[in-house]
Amino acid sequence: MKFISTRGQASPVGFVDACLAGLAPDGGLYVPEFWPRIEPAGPKESYVSVASRVIAAFADGELTTDEINGICERAYAGFAHQSVAPLVQWGSNAFIMELHHGPTLAFKDIAMQLIAQLFDHVLAARGARMSVTCATSGDTGGAAAAAFAGASQVDLFILHPFERVSPVQRLFMTTTGASNVHNIAIDGDFDACQSIVKSLFADRDFVDETGLSGVNSINWARIAAQSVYYATAQAALGSDRPLKFIVPSGNMGDALAGYVAARCGLLNGFEAVCAVNENETLKTLFESGRMVRTPAIATPSPAMDISVPSNFERIAFEVSGRDPEAIRQIYAGFAQSGDVELPEKIRGPLSCSGLSAQSVSNSTTLDEMRKLLQETGWLICPHTAVGTQVARQLFGDDDATIVVLSTAHAAKFPETVLEATGADAPLPARVANVADRPEVFDRLSSDPTVVRDYIRQRQRD
Ligand SMILES: *Cc1c(COP(=O)(O)O)cnc(C)c1O
Repeated sequence: MKFISTRGQASPVGFVDACLAGLAPDGGLYVPEFWPRIEPAGPKESYVSVASRVIAAFADGELTTDEINGICERAYAGFAHQSVAPLVQWGSNAFIMELHHGPTLAFKDIAMQLIAQLFDHVLAARGARMSVTCATSGDTGGAAAAAFAGASQVDLFILHPFERVSPVQRLFMTTTGASNVHNIAIDGDFDACQSIVKSLFADRDFVDETGLSGVNSINWARIAAQSVYYATAQAALGSDRPLKFIVPSGNMGDALAGYVAARCGLLNGFEAVCAVNENETLKTLFESGRMVRTPAIATPSPAMDISVPSNFERIAFEVSGRDPEAIRQIYAGFAQSGDVELPEKIRGPLSCSGLSAQSVSNSTTLDEMRKLLQETGWLICPHTAVGTQVARQLFGDDDATIVVLSTAHAAKFPETVLEATGADAPLPARVANVADRPEVFDRLSSDPTVVRDYIRQRQRD
C-alpha cells in the first residue's frame, strides 16, 4: 500500500518511508491511498495482537508478521496494566478508558513506544542512523525520551521551553540517563521551540546531512498506533454496542485515530466528540466552518493549548472526497490571512463525519475535577476532566455508550489537581524514582544556528 499526501504534490511512498518522514515534502500529511479492511478485535484478543494486525494492514508486506509482532510486544511490555488500555465503569452506560499506564503516565506513550521500536527496527535493517527532533510543551518530550532511550539507531533532540514545563514533565525528559537522549532547554516559550524545529526542517542540507526526522502528532505511525484502543474498546464493550467517544483534543491526532479505526471496519459506527479547552479553534471549525488563527492561550490543560489542530487537514481531505486542490487552497489562504472559510464541499460532509467538538472553560474544568473526586473518589487530570465534563452534558441524550478517553494520570499535573481539589496526587510507585535521578539538560538560546551546531556535535556518526 502506498501513502499519498493530502496536498497531492508529493510522490506516493510506502508505510515505512511515510512514518520515517513525518510530513510529506509538499507540506501535506500522508494518508493511506485506500482504507484497508481490518477484522474487528476479538473479545479475548490481546492488545498486542490487535496492534500487530493494525500495523500489518498499513505496512502491507513491508515488514514480516514476526517483525511486527516483535515491535508491538516490545512497545507495550513496559505498560503497568496487562490490558494496556483498561476500561473503568463510570456510569450505567458510561466508561473511562485509561490511556495513562505507560512509562510517562500520558497517552502519548502508546504511540511513542511503538514509533521508537518501529524506527529502531527499520533503521537497523537499513543500516542507517537518524536524528529525531521534537518541540514539546510537556508530555510529548517525556514520552519520546522514555521511548527512544537506549535506541541504537536514533539520537533524540528534545526542545522544551526553559522553566515553562511542569517539574514532573521535565523529570520524565531529563532523567532517562540515556546518552542518545539530548534535552535542550530553550530560552523562550513553546512557540520559540516550535519555530526552531521548523527552521531546522526548512534547511534541506541540514536535514539530509543529519537524517533529521520528527515524531510529532502528524506522524502516521502515531495515528495507526492510537486507532488500536478504539478497536479494543469496541471489543470489550460488545461488537454490536454503538459507542460515543469523548476525546480530550489538541492537535486532533487522537480523535483522527478513532475516525481511522471506523474507516477500517474496527468500530460499529462512529461518533466522537472532540473535547477542547478555551482554545476553541476546533469548535469554530465544526460549528461555523471557519478556520481562524488565534494565539494559543494558557489553560489548566496545557497539552491541549493548540491554536490550529494539525490533523484536521486529514479529516478535511477525507470529507472533501480526497481533493488535494481544495486542501492546497484552504491552507494557502490560511497561511496568508489566518482566517479561511471552508468550502461547502467540505462543510457539508464534515457535519456528517461523526466528529464534532465541544469546549469547556477553565473554571468548569477545575470544578469538574472536584466534582468527580466527590462522586467517585477518583483523581483525574485536567485534560481528562475536559472530557468527563463534555460527557456529563451528553448524559441521557442518546442510547450510545459513552467512552471518555483519559489521556493522562492525575500525578502528571499535581499543581492543578491540588488547586482544584485540595488533594495531593503523588506519583505511582513504579515511576516515583524519577524524582531521585540526576537531571541532564543543556540550556541554549533560541537561535536556530546554535541548535543546529549542537545537533551536529552530539549526533552519532
Ligand atoms: C497530547 C495530549 C492531548 C491531546 O491529544 P491530540 O492527539 O493532540 O488531540 C490530550 N491530553 C493529554 C494529556 C495529552 O498529552
